Amino acid sequence: MGVPARLLGAARSVRRRAYAPYSGFRVGAAVRAGGRVFAAPNVENASYGLTVCAERNAVAAAVAAGARRLTALAVASATRPPTPPCGACLQVLAEFAGPDLPVLLGGSGGSRVETTLGALLPRGFSKRFL
Ligand code: ZN
Repeated sequence: MGVPARLLGAARSVRRRAYAPYSGFRVGAAVRAGGRVFAAPNVENASYGLTVCAERNAVAAAVAAGARRLTALAVASATRPPTPPCGACLQVLAEFAGPDLPVLLGGSGGSRVETTLGALLPRGFSKRFL
C-alpha cells in the first residue's frame, strides 16, 4: 500500500513552520500511526548538534499521543531529487515500523520518490541483535 497524497500535503504544510534560521534547510515530515496523522518540521538550535530533524519530531509527536506503530511516512523538502531521511532518523523510524513502511518523498518541481523503510535502511540494527 502506498502513501496517501494527503500525508505529503501534511508534510508540506508543516514544513512552513520549520525552524531553520542557520541552514535555511526546511523539512516537514508526517507519519500515519493509529489511524491519525502526526506532522512536524525540523527544529534547529544555535548549538548545531542539538538540531532535530522533522522525521524524529513527527515520530515523537506520535509516541507522545500513544501511537507507536507507524504505517506511512511522507517527507517534504525543496530539493530535487527529494531529500530522504538521514541515518539517525532511519534508525528511529525502524524502532516503530517494519521494513515495509511505505515512504513518500516530495521535493521541488513536483519531484517524488516512492520507496520503503527497508529500501532506505537495508539490514538495519534492531533490538533483535541485543
Ligand atoms: Zn534526520
